[in-house]
Amino acid sequence: MGCVKEKVTELSNDRRILFDAIIEHTKTFRYVILTLNILLFPLVFAIVYFTGGTQYAYLHIMYIPVMMSAFLFGWKGGVLAGLAGGFLLGPFMPLDTSTNVMQPFMNWFYRMAYFMLIGLVLGYIFDRLREQMLRMLNLHTRSYDTGIINYNYYLKHRNIRSQGRKKVTMALTVNNYEQLTSLLGRDAYIEVFKELYEALKTVLPDHALVFQVDFHRFWVEMSAESFRKIRDTLAESLDNVTFYSERVPLYLDYSIGISMPSPTRTMHDRFKESDIAAMHAKKQNLKIALYHDDHLHDELMLRRLGELPLALQNNDLFLEYQPLIDLKNDKVVGIEALVRWSHADKILYPNEFIPLAEESRIIDDITLWVFERVLKDFGHLHAIAPDVDIALNISQKNLFNQSLLDTMIKRIEETDFNGRNLHIEMTESSMMKNRTSTGMFFNKLRNHNVKIIIDDFGTGYSSLSCLRDLPADTVKIDRDFTMNLEDDPSLAYMVEAIVDLAHNLHLKVIAEGVEDQNILERLKALDCDYAQGFLYARPMLKDDLFVWLKERQKSAA
Ligand code: C2E
Ligand code: CA
Ligand code: CA
Repeated sequence: MGCVKEKVTELSNDRRILFDAIIEHTKTFRYVILTLNILLFPLVFAIVYFTGGTQYAYLHIMYIPVMMSAFLFGWKGGVLAGLAGGFLLGPFMPLDTSTNVMQPFMNWFYRMAYFMLIGLVLGYIFDRLREQMLRMLNLHTRSYDTGIINYNYYLKHRNIRSQGRKKVTMALTVNNYEQLTSLLGRDAYIEVFKELYEALKTVLPDHALVFQVDFHRFWVEMSAESFRKIRDTLAESLDNVTFYSERVPLYLDYSIGISMPSPTRTMHDRFKESDIAAMHAKKQNLKIALYHDDHLHDELMLRRLGELPLALQNNDLFLEYQPLIDLKNDKVVGIEALVRWSHADKILYPNEFIPLAEESRIIDDITLWVFERVLKDFGHLHAIAPDVDIALNISQKNLFNQSLLDTMIKRIEETDFNGRNLHIEMTESSMMKNRTSTGMFFNKLRNHNVKIIIDDFGTGYSSLSCLRDLPADTVKIDRDFTMNLEDDPSLAYMVEAIVDLAHNLHLKVIAEGVEDQNILERLKALDCDYAQGFLYARPMLKDDLFVWLKERQKSAA
């Protein structure tokens, strides 16, 4: 609040603000009012003179210019106007113009003093009013906690800042602000955020308008020319600033997005584009990214993320199942559920929306939806193929949701098969990234008979010895290994090593992405346990899968 007060005094010199706030006007109108006020003094003098002098009530018209001066210039203006008005109606103004009888000194002197008093009191009241008005304006155009100007300020001033569309817009986002707030507390974080604001103002050109959008983001508007000058050095200059909290240097992780001038897009769109570019920079681990049309893709993704809750509600998601074959006897031993989204007139595959959903809590809802659907479909599957297990994929983000885990366990306990035929897949890299939570999450599920599959094994750059630590029953070798097995002899050695190690640790091995017969033979020779891939079947809808299973059972018989 102290900060706001400071700004109030800083701005209170600008007397126009009260005037601006009370009277909607143009610049010319303001000058007309000022000139009128000045002209009123001789006019009142003339009126009083030609209506017979100060013995008549016309002299009270002088209150009008005194009041207006107090309004326009505060108490000093009021006192001065009272003095001028009192003097004009003073020693040179007769009491009665017809007889030319002059006023006694005390008469006009008291009146002058009275005018001055009125000017003083009114001026004082107007000054206080102005201050309150400024305070209100400040609260509207500045952030309450930081005192930094905000978007309202920008909106209010952009008209007088010419040619906004020729300007470059920039968004700066503090990526680790949540960590910083929990580490330092909100007040200390705000101080750091203010330091960042000051740093930004120093590294940016003088005329750049920096304003706060929320507690981890600034938007900036500057000319294209000055942006060109600082473009290559901006990130470096900011990196050179060290931010402190209680003398402890902090690591401020930020990303900057830039949108270049465009005659067709509004400034608001352009700020949004800068946000998207900043988000892109964050994802790509860059300090700075420029918005270009590729980011339209990101915009589209954002829109998609917004549509996901409704899609879930409307059951626009559906599952396809891909069979898993035992290589020893060629029997179907499992199916893997793969989610799809029926969106407008096309089908979206998980890569087009799961990473997006992982950015928000909706990923938990998706997993739960898939889980419920799998349980339901398993009932039907079990009736026609009792030996076939069912697997579903979950995201690393799910590991942090205890209530999701509880719900899953509760649901498993309610089913007849009690988790025995259920497998859950998670990628090796996700497991390695969250080892503690992985352990807790999966061990609980394993206690309920659920089997865990390490998906995309071999892509996580973790050492093979980590296999021992991960709570798993099966490894699924990534399809990059399988598919290139024929072309790259070293891959065969790696697959062999993985299979050996997995078997020694009593884990089963699945090879995914099996597309041709030769590779299948190699995998058999390498002692893989199971295989999955287009060679056997593509992912299919439940009904198609049932037909496929029945045909297979028939041909085996
Ligand atoms: P994934 O778990 O590795 O699933 C295998 C992916 O490979 C599937 O793609 C499948 O259609 C494809 N595939 C299977 N056999 C072959 C083959 O022989 N050749 C080739 N080229 N591809 C094959 P899809 O369905 O697009 O899924 C992609 C990824 O999305 C999955 O990779 C999985 O990580 C994720 N995903 C799928 N469903 C879910 C879900 O319900 N929840 C979560 N969190 N992730 C899911
Ligand atoms: Ca999988
Ligand atoms: Ca996989």
